[in-house]
Amino acid sequence: MLPKDVIDCFRVEPGQKIRIKDFDTGWDQTPKLKELGKETAKERAKDLLAENLAELADAQNRLYADDRYSVLIILQAMDAAGKDGTIKHVMSGVNPQGCQVFSFKQPSAEELDHNFLWRCMKSLPERGRIGIFNRSYYEDVLVVKVHPELLDKQRLPDGKRGKSFWEARYDDINAFERHLVRNGTVILKFFLNVSKKEQKQRFLERLTDPSKNWKFSPSDVSERAHWDEYMDAYQDAINATSTEWAPWYVIPADHKWATRAVVADILTSTIRDLDARYPTLSDKQQAALSAAKVTLESE
Ligand code: ATP
Ligand code: MG
Repeated sequence: MLPKDVIDCFRVEPGQKIRIKDFDTGWDQTPKLKELGKETAKERAKDLLAENLAELADAQNRLYADDRYSVLIILQAMDAAGKDGTIKHVMSGVNPQGCQVFSFKQPSAEELDHNFLWRCMKSLPERGRIGIFNRSYYEDVLVVKVHPELLDKQRLPDGKRGKSFWEARYDDINAFERHLVRNGTVILKFFLNVSKKEQKQRFLERLTDPSKNWKFSPSDVSERAHWDEYMDAYQDAINATSTEWAPWYVIPADHKWATRAVVADILTSTIRDLDARYPTLSDKQQAALSAAKVTLESE
């Protein structure tokens, strides 16, 4: 497990007012990590990921058998920050039956006919399961805040679309998440914090490598032009919605090995701390098992 002081570098405490630019996008967040050097840190991160994946598989089995809690992972990031790869690697060891992934793109006509939480509500993980949101209702205070004309499509009642409009949306999100947590959903929110420079490198790779061409969309470059506005929107949203019940983690995303190791560690330790247990049998159930065993053995 990563030491608490390392995890604390990524966690946004409720009420804290963070600035995204104060977060390192690289791998050497603490003096101790720096001392290790990049190659050693990378090796350790790979070992840590492997250990966590083994533990995660077991923790997920208990979560499923216990059937009281669900875990909701929210991944938000700029394009090419590594959301897909993180999901693929972190969830590689878990039982697919206990895991669901939903990606939220531009809303459909049906989705626009409902409130902005609706499509996500329909996709929440059932008890015992891990649900991953690849983008989420946070898009409605991120891309929609950067492009307020998108609000026209939502056909909301008339009213001003200033600061208090967005604050009301943060309040709605906090209340919604509070409701989920009270009802047994554990929420983890990760902002994969990639630098503008690294995003450019990844886009260029997608444009140059034919096997990655399909990942590139022209809108990726036009959205990049709004980088600073996106950072402001992320910052405001994270500051307003990092709560005791649903904290945000700002995860360094310039090195995929670092991102995956940190996300897997936080996820594994969170599920482990739930203390999900295999159900214990009553005396009556135990007696029924013993009777079944006798029957089978006497065949
Ligand atoms: P990838 O590029 O890795 O395939 P992605 O999540 O970026 O994954 P895209 O299809 O490229 O998927 O983009 C989805 C787009 O939908 C994003 O630009 C996102 O901002 C946008 N989007 C998501 N939710 C909303 C929303 N509620 N309103 C408007 N746009 C949204
Ligand atoms: Mg995209």
